[in-house]
Amino acid sequence: MACIICGSDSESIKFIYSDTEFYECTKCKLVRTLPFPQLGEIREHYKNKFEKGNYSTIHSSMDMYIYLYRTYIDLIKNYSGALSGKKILDVGCFTGDFLDLALKENAETYGIELQEDAAQISNKKHYGRILNCQFNDAAFDKTFDIVTLFGLIEHVTTPEILLENISSWMKSESLLIIQTPNAGSFWSSILGKFWPPYAPVEHIHYFSAKNIKQFLEKYNYTVLKVKPHIKKLSIEYVYTMFQNFGPEFYILLKPFYWVLPKFLKKLKLPFYGGEMLIVAKKN
Ligand SMILES: [Zn+2]
Repeated sequence: MACIICGSDSESIKFIYSDTEFYECTKCKLVRTLPFPQLGEIREHYKNKFEKGNYSTIHSSMDMYIYLYRTYIDLIKNYSGALSGKKILDVGCFTGDFLDLALKENAETYGIELQEDAAQISNKKHYGRILNCQFNDAAFDKTFDIVTLFGLIEHVTTPEILLENISSWMKSESLLIIQTPNAGSFWSSILGKFWPPYAPVEHIHYFSAKNIKQFLEKYNYTVLKVKPHIKKLSIEYVYTMFQNFGPEFYILLKPFYWVLPKFLKKLKLPFYGGEMLIVAKKN
């Protein structure tokens, strides 16, 4: 299967993790899991996660997310100025918490969310402007000033169609913000297949700072900035997330975690897990 970035047909197996084969393009180093998981498998995976309380974890940590979303708003404002009157689309908007902040800045907010319950919650706050569908079934009769993809591009089987669609919804000079794991990061190199973002079914495509730039340029974007994504998170939250991302660490750290006093578990520290933030402009 030709590489979606460089077109090369040459990829080699990087490792096998959790019964899944990870392949790497020998030319541009894009990593993907092959074969892609089937739709039924993907649905089952997210259903299980939901039932295991992943979403309740997110909601019980909403203060951390709000802080994080605030940093995204500040980042956008650095590049586009005030948000007032601007049309912003968040693909994979979940319950619309990032869009809430954009709305407070008087932006015109839109979202796409596949998960029905989440889309309904989001739609209550951004009435009639949230589509409950896959991105490839979405259509808009307007163009946006800002599009955001937070933790989304790594989940999809066809990021090339995602970029093509998004590009058709964006004005020239508009801003695209992407947050995704960086497969060329320090942590991915050190931890190899145990790097927590290497999570089969959940994450399918793993970009590096270099090849995502190449990918975006192919779809007519200019990359303005790629930077390490540092988040302020509590030890408790990071440890809970290891249940799904990096289960080996969940087991390994268990004895240390349980003896930590409660105030330390709640302590919020700057955390870098090898993710990146990309700011790009549509040409
Ligand atoms: Zn390639």
